Amino acid sequence: MIDVQHLSKKFGKNEVLKDINLTVKRQEVVVLIGPSGSGKSTLIRCLNKLERASGGEICIMGKNIYDADMNNNYLRQKVNMVFQHFNLFANMTVLQNLTIGMEKLLRIPKEESKKRAIDLLKIVGLSDKHDMYPENLSGGQKQRVAIARALAMKPEIILFDEPTSALDPEMVGEVLQVMKEIAKTGTTMIVVTHEMGFAREVANKIVFLEKGELIAEMTPDELNANHSHPRIATFLKQIL
Ligand code: ATP
Ligand code: MG
Repeated sequence: MIDVQHLSKKFGKNEVLKDINLTVKRQEVVVLIGPSGSGKSTLIRCLNKLERASGGEICIMGKNIYDADMNNNYLRQKVNMVFQHFNLFANMTVLQNLTIGMEKLLRIPKEESKKRAIDLLKIVGLSDKHDMYPENLSGGQKQRVAIARALAMKPEIILFDEPTSALDPEMVGEVLQVMKEIAKTGTTMIVVTHEMGFAREVANKIVFLEKGELIAEMTPDELNANHSHPRIATFLKQIL
């Protein structure tokens, strides 16, 4: 589903991703961990071309994303992203946040996109919030709208960049619960998170990045502070 080969990314002279190799199979959930500044956001942003790779190859659904005939809107529909700070459209209601992309990008007729939006808001537990504006929602509710909006685009892959780290602790659970439900439906997911409970329960593999290098891939069982790699053990001790 995702095949990253020898990916490198430089900002000026600063090489923030170095020879990254990563494969993600259809329906897999991969959790990405690592210290601040290790390149986690940059890596997932390269996958839908929010950042341009400096070298290497990225194939998604069997196609090189830098092929001339790869349409960026199409790519970002198929490889959708959920951000730490929600990035909802502030001047639109919850329902409009979902329908706009369906109407403009997927060209789904108004009535049908509204119906689909209503169904998706039910799935994320927000049936009573259709006509509210984002500013009147809690953080957890905003993030659930953002997740429903991602689902509305019928993505093959959803990238999550620390989706719960801007939330008050009591709202983390409701967002993780929605993410677990999505994982069960077989959506391929890459999740940057420090929620190791989620990683243990849902991830097929956990990838550790440090200073732009992919140092290790682990199974959920290996996610403990006695990890044989000293730097991973140190990192896990801090967050477990
Ligand atoms: P955090 O856990 O704090 O979110 P991260 O692992 O997501 O960190 P990135 O945001 O990917 O790390 O950043 C990796 C490196 O790339 C950092 O050194 C950062 O300063 C640098 N960087 C990221 N974006 C840019 C940019 N647009 N221009 C220049 N440097 C950047
Ligand atoms: Mg980041």
